[in-house]
Amino acid sequence: MKLRPDLGLTFDDVLLVPKRSSVVSRKQIDLSTWLTPQIQLAIPIVSANMDTVTETEMAIAMARAGGIGILHRFMTVQQQAEMVQRVKRAESFVVENPLTISPTATLEEARQKMLQADIGGLVVTDSQGTLLGIITTRDVLLAPNLEAKVEQAMTPRERLIVAAKDEPLSVSRQKLYEHRIEKLPLVDENDRVVGLVTAQDIIKLHEHPQATKDSKGRLRVGAAVGANPADLERARACVAAEADVLVVDVAHGHLEIVIRMVQQLKQEFPAIPVIAGNVATAEGVHDLNMAGADAVKVGVGSGSICITRIVTGFGVPQLTAIADCAEAGIALGVPIIADGGIRNSGDITKALAAGASTVMLGSLLSGTKESPGATIFRNGQNYKVVRGMASLTANIARRKIDRQGEVDWEEWSDIVPEGVEAVVPYRGTLNEVLHQLLGGLRSGMSYCGATTLAELSEKAEFIRITRSSLIESGVHDVTVL
Ligand code: 5GP
Repeated sequence: MKLRPDLGLTFDDVLLVPKRSSVVSRKQIDLSTWLTPQIQLAIPIVSANMDTVTETEMAIAMARAGGIGILHRFMTVQQQAEMVQRVKRAESFVVENPLTISPTATLEEARQKMLQADIGGLVVTDSQGTLLGIITTRDVLLAPNLEAKVEQAMTPRERLIVAAKDEPLSVSRQKLYEHRIEKLPLVDENDRVVGLVTAQDIIKLHEHPQATKDSKGRLRVGAAVGANPADLERARACVAAEADVLVVDVAHGHLEIVIRMVQQLKQEFPAIPVIAGNVATAEGVHDLNMAGADAVKVGVGSGSICITRIVTGFGVPQLTAIADCAEAGIALGVPIIADGGIRNSGDITKALAAGASTVMLGSLLSGTKESPGATIFRNGQNYKVVRGMASLTANIARRKIDRQGEVDWEEWSDIVPEGVEAVVPYRGTLNEVLHQLLGGLRSGMSYCGATTLAELSEKAEFIRITRSSLIESGVHDVTVL
């Protein structure tokens, strides 16, 4: 037995000491950071791979805001790969493989295809890929007979404006404007479709200048996988769907099967960044990095919906875990993702000051419009559900997916949950929540005299505080209206 001599600290045990600062405007502050050495983000925020936090809508909104979303893995492989595809299709400079449909398909088939892919139009081609027309939602939505053929409702080739495949984006933009059209197919010398430029994509370029994008202008997205041999299939499907980063996410990430999984993934997909976790020690960061992990996720038992520390007795208070892991991470060149326990912008500032490159947020984002799941109305207020991925109901849901069938009642009592089901108040859109969080972070950085996150962690000085200081830090001796 060994007893560490130092006290483990978490966010409420410390404050940051104000420093001389020349920062006069929050606009001077640059929040850009690295998720992994290959992926830069404009803001240090990652949405958690939980089934009440990140699915397609959240991942798209996070990437547009300049962060990134990690799609959870508690669904079938096919569903997860489809979600990756949806994010990758949400916008791009050029849609490289636009979805096509045959002229003899029915309008109902066209409608279904557009609905499934969440897009507004399909290119109509023959079996050789030759352009025959375009059909859009407008052509099908009010059509009296959905059994009619696509060729009867489409805009035919002779009425289409097209562009050559290597035409500059500025020329395409001009054509879209001049002809007041929404879609511009790109064709080769044989009139075969090789791409599509849409007005929407060009508009989005201006709407979200900070968006996290790949070299083709598509939003970036991460996909979580487990550490079992079957998860290799999941990883393959997500990579085939063009996920930008894989996250091997296990509650105790310092496991030999996690190390092996990271090695296998790096061997099979050397070009794809791999994040691994969760760990709470420098040894954990070291071992995962030696296996090939490009970034490490830190946090054991710190999550808002997590009861691991109560059920198992294990964990490291989160601020100490971040500081220990960041020290190792900086020496190894491995970015640290502080995951779990962040409740407000002050906690974000502290986590980044302690050396994390990014923070992963679960319950803080679960109350947004973009999180999966319905809003529920209770006692005059709107709420959304958040649940731990090791909670009882999440365990049952996972077993149902694995077996593709029901789970016997007796099995419910077999499960030892390490997470809970809960509700959080509905908090509005992701952008509204991020505005407050990032505003608080920027303000925090100005107290430190830091204009970049690197400067924040260099200059930061923490002071441990007492219980009475904590009371002083909150609103006190008044009745809040
Ligand atoms: P939050 O931001 O809500 O405080 O924490 C989110 C993090 O909690 C997740 O990213 C994940 O690492 C962790 N987590 C999610 N579900 C569970 C669970 O059921 N048990 C445990 N121990 N951790 C969980």
